[in-house]
Amino acid sequence: MSLDPASLEIVIYPDPVLRQRADAIADITDETRAVAARMIELMHRAEGIGLAAPQVGLSWRLFVAHVPPDDGRSTDETPPTALATPVVFINPAVTMPSAELESHEEGCLSLPEIRGPILRPPQITIDAMDIEGTQFSMRVSGLLARCLQHEFDHIEGILIIDRFPQMARLRTRSAVRALERDAQAR
Ligand code: ZN
Repeated sequence: MSLDPASLEIVIYPDPVLRQRADAIADITDETRAVAARMIELMHRAEGIGLAAPQVGLSWRLFVAHVPPDDGRSTDETPPTALATPVVFINPAVTMPSAELESHEEGCLSLPEIRGPILRPPQITIDAMDIEGTQFSMRVSGLLARCLQHEFDHIEGILIIDRFPQMARLRTRSAVRALERDAQAR
């Protein structure tokens, strides 16, 4: 193995890897599986509901998500709004069936303390490969649909601050600058 999955940690804005359009995964190997397992561990440790490979410094089209069932979220609904277990999405494609948009507050593990409202379609279909290389398709709604769109943005190099409306951009500007200064000081 050329990389040590145990050494992966969550990278923080403005790390340039967060701005790259990630590369498709050609082969799913033991290394891919070990990286995905490490990402699930990091996501749970940080109490997040999703984590994309660029957020651990890897420009790969892979992300993990676990939006657990809760009040108002369920795996039994059609379409589901939660996941019973963590799911790995490899080389995903997202289809947005409608032009309808809903606004909801979002945060990001790579942008600590920064939150703001983002408009997104409330339902999507996602097609991806699982960790065994099997193609699957899911239609999802609610927070799960939002989470998967957020993670998909990561593999396109798009961050929540790019999608904030002007008011949220102004309100979070000093916190974003502070992260940029912290990075320069390191
Ligand atoms: Zn994020």
